[in-house]
Amino acid sequence: MRALGVNLSKVVVHIDLKGSPPKLSYLESIFPLFKDLGVNALLMEYEDMFPYKGKIANLSSNICYKEHELRKFITAAGRAGFEIIPLIQTFGHLEHALKLPEFKHLREVPLYPDSICPSKMESTTLINDMLKQIVVFHSSIYPLKHIHIGFDEVFHINKCAQCRLWNQTDIDIYFNHLQKVKGTVKLWSPNTTVLIWDDMLRGIKLDDFVHRELTNTEPVYWDYAPSLRVSHNNLYKYHKNFENIWIASAFKGAEGRTATLPSLKNRFINHVEWLKLIFHYKFGGEKNIYNFEGIILTGWSRYSHMDPLCEILPVAIPSLVLNLLMIKYFQEGQMENAYLLETSEIFNRFLKNDFIKHLQCEDDISLENFETSSCTFKGHKIYSILEQYIFQNDQILGKVNDVKEGLFSLEYYYKLNHLNMNAILPDIKWCNESLLDLFATENRIFNLMLQYYDVVVVQEYVNYKFYEGKKKLIGLLKLLKRYYSIHTWYRNPPQRYKFYIS
Ligand SMILES: [Zn+2]
Repeated sequence: MRALGVNLSKVVVHIDLKGSPPKLSYLESIFPLFKDLGVNALLMEYEDMFPYKGKIANLSSNICYKEHELRKFITAAGRAGFEIIPLIQTFGHLEHALKLPEFKHLREVPLYPDSICPSKMESTTLINDMLKQIVVFHSSIYPLKHIHIGFDEVFHINKCAQCRLWNQTDIDIYFNHLQKVKGTVKLWSPNTTVLIWDDMLRGIKLDDFVHRELTNTEPVYWDYAPSLRVSHNNLYKYHKNFENIWIASAFKGAEGRTATLPSLKNRFINHVEWLKLIFHYKFGGEKNIYNFEGIILTGWSRYSHMDPLCEILPVAIPSLVLNLLMIKYFQEGQMENAYLLETSEIFNRFLKNDFIKHLQCEDDISLENFETSSCTFKGHKIYSILEQYIFQNDQILGKVNDVKEGLFSLEYYYKLNHLNMNAILPDIKWCNESLLDLFATENRIFNLMLQYYDVVVVQEYVNYKFYEGKKKLIGLLKLLKRYYSIHTWYRNPPQRYKFYIS
């Protein structure tokens, strides 16, 4: 049976904690679902949510997890059968460290707090401190099999005077830094395999991999788009140089940096495409089917430290369930011919019934127009209210623009004190009602989100989501009230009809 399916030793769910940690009790409550759907590891991207100590304590947010609660969570995860793979960035995406005054001087380019300069001694000290605390903490609970050290999107490399002094290529700097970081991991946990995102490797030629020290290192080829652009040539390079290759899809956080809900269809197609690609994958000239080591279903919470919150975890559960189900069926060999079928047919034929069962829905579900009004899965209430928010907010922003344009077209008559008040009053009424509607939706989202997140995260989320709508409504209301202040009209045609644009 197994040979018919897809061999993936690891099915990993990425928990992106960046500045917005779900309550650990909530994460723990999803363990049975994860277990049921074949998940066997969690990739914990801590960023500023790990309780760093000592000189690097400021790397942690004020709302980071407490050490004892994290220890309890990891112990419970292990007992439930999940391997914990910590992810900490060690080259790019180090904004939570490099934004701080005390580490500002370690930036590769002074203006940008993302990439660290690998040539400075203090950079090595900072990374060593982070790795030591993460590795020692995790391996004190369970042996650390894997650690993910990021290494993606290093936007600034080989730019500072100190790096350029050595006359090295960007590729040399990249591999030297990789070796250094791996050396540190090895020091604290000799048997840990290091995972890296693959994007920085994509442009490196096969010859440039020669003589690099790549043992215990495994790349994760990521692509989150509905239509994959995976290069077989790159896969081949990784195959020739690394013991294993992992792949990464996205169940949320790939619809744009300000998205509220994931697109079930896009997320599904992304996973379908990946599974079709790896199904019975063979490298050129090889007889055997290649087995990718694992799939990481990424769930981005922010595009970077300084970006807004995108889709929250509870509303991405439907996407996660659907894609985990499909991976499970691919593994079990239940979807033998699926790679030949269209996406909607795969959904309808193999997955729809079980998906509906998992989400506890009474009505039929459509991949195209997914909505959850008849479903009772945990999180359905927040899903529904966010659907309502999107509709309401779009309507309000659209009408605010229309009313403003209308007012602008009447500005000449406003200057002349010659306006029809009856035309303005309904808009004032609409603004007031819309503000009340927004406040009501905001309150409902606020209260529902408190089940899943710390109050600080909830405040950030609702303040951000409602900022534009409320600001524009209040601005319009002020304008309308100014227009509405005309109560005395004069005999026509007054001299004041002469109005010049200056
Ligand atoms: Zn440098």
